[in-house]
Amino acid sequence: MCIPRRTGRAFVWAGTVSLNHVSDADAEPPLLADVYPALVSFLTAALVSEGEPTLARAVAGLRFHGWCECGPACTYLRTAPVGCADGNWVHIDDEVPRVWLQSGRDQTSFVGMEICEFDLGPAPALDPDRPAGPA
Ligand SMILES: [Zn+2]
Repeated sequence: MCIPRRTGRAFVWAGTVSLNHVSDADAEPPLLADVYPALVSFLTAALVSEGEPTLARAVAGLRFHGWCECGPACTYLRTAPVGCADGNWVHIDDEVPRVWLQSGRDQTSFVGMEICEFDLGPAPALDPDRPAGPA
C-alpha cells in the first residue's frame, strides 16, 4: 500500500505560505552598484580603458559586504566574505592614488578595495556604517 492518499487537507497549507519568509540575515548583500553607483561606473570605465573588460564586468556584479572594521579611519571596502583575498592589487591612479582593487584567489573578481582618493558622494541609506575617511 504505497500509494499516497491525497486528501483535501494536504493542500491547505499552500494558501498560508508567506513569500516574505526570508529574513534579512539570509538575504544577499546589496549590489555595490546600488550602494555607490559613481564608484562602480568609475571603476568600470577605468578597467575598460586598461584593457580589462572581463574585470570591468566583474565589478558591475560585486556586492557590498561592508567596510573593514580595523579602525574608524580605514577605507577598505569589502566586496566578498572575509578570507577570500589573495595578495594581488590593481592600482587605479591618476596623479594621486585613487582606488586600489584587491583580487580574489580565483583572479576573476575582487574581494575588496581601498578607497584612497575618490568622492563616494553622500552616504546612502544602504550604508549607515560608512567610515569618516578622507573621501
Ligand atoms: Zn581596515
